[in-house]
Amino acid sequence: MPRTAAPPLTTPPPTDRRRTSASVVLRSVLEHGPVARSTIARLTGLSPASVTDYCARFTELGLIREAEAPRRLKGVGRPHVPVDLDDSRFVVGGVHVAVPYTTVALLDLRGRVVLRRELKHSGAVDPLAVLARAAAGLAALLAEVPGSRPLGIGVAVGGWVDRDSGTVVEHPLLGWREVPVRELLGAHTGLPVHVDGHARALVNGERLFGRARGSRSVLHLFVGNVVDAAFATGDEVHHGPRSQAGTIAHLPVPGGTEPCGCGRTGCLQAELSERTLVRRARAAGAVEGSNPMDVLAAARAGDPVAVRLLVERARMTGRAAGLLLDVLNPESVVVTEVGVLHREDCLAALREAVGPERAPVLPTSFGASVLAVAGGSVALDVLYRDPLSASPELI
Ligand SMILES: [Zn+2]
Repeated sequence: MPRTAAPPLTTPPPTDRRRTSASVVLRSVLEHGPVARSTIARLTGLSPASVTDYCARFTELGLIREAEAPRRLKGVGRPHVPVDLDDSRFVVGGVHVAVPYTTVALLDLRGRVVLRRELKHSGAVDPLAVLARAAAGLAALLAEVPGSRPLGIGVAVGGWVDRDSGTVVEHPLLGWREVPVRELLGAHTGLPVHVDGHARALVNGERLFGRARGSRSVLHLFVGNVVDAAFATGDEVHHGPRSQAGTIAHLPVPGGTEPCGCGRTGCLQAELSERTLVRRARAAGAVEGSNPMDVLAAARAGDPVAVRLLVERARMTGRAAGLLLDVLNPESVVVTEVGVLHREDCLAALREAVGPERAPVLPTSFGASVLAVAGGSVALDVLYRDPLSASPELI
């Protein structure tokens, strides 16, 4: 009996191939634009005809446009006319929900923050109220940029976030459980909504727009009130079943003294959270309020206690990064932590604790905009992964 040959496992089905090629072409324009189509073909290994087809499609959709041709190339022919992202038409909305406030933002296709705003939480952080305010906040930002069309919204949250269902499964510090963020925010805005954990969102931000571009593997460590990690190899961020990967909140820290909600002492998140930092600074008389930026300001003003607390936190973050490096051996490491972001002594303490001859440890590429970029990156990652499906004509 003749047997039907199964397709070879290594060859993706045609739709996947098309999706991958479209992604590769748009990423190439992002990374190299303005760039000639012939150069894209050379860089990607795709045929010049197929690059020209994708570029025509992206131009039609308004994602890219022809840049002005350099004079010496005039008359050479269209493949040499450079193309670039068209960052004048579309934006994505970004939402990041932190414990004290929500950040809403608009980002252009290059991952640059066009506008952002912080919406302080008042009292209990009821998910329905927080998401309704986020939707209103985004609408207000869009009204400030007439003519820009939103492609979709990305939401980044700490804790356990299931990307596939768009749900915050559990965020103990917010008191959120099984919150269907995609559904709720989608109902408010009428836009496609994508949801992911903030550490994973920022790995994608770094991969697409930051210093980790071109790196074959990246570890991102997020240290705010929530502490978690994410790891990407190539273009894939590891999620694991129900997106549970990267939960390092209860990793034990040697010598840790903070009691944790889980009943143990010295868990990573309890030791490193911004709340702990501020509480220690307050107990020592270095600050009065509850804002970690006050600790930074005190350190800047020369308060030795504030400096010590920040450097110690950076050192402990470095030890945690060192443990993760042993397991994952990434090519580059990115850390989002307030002291490391703003102070050389903290960055030095972090690097020292990670140890010599390890992967380079970099502070986040996004400075004070990091939370806005986290939210927006969730939506932009979807666009760059599958530009034709995330196309504006569907919206
Ligand atoms: Zn714990």
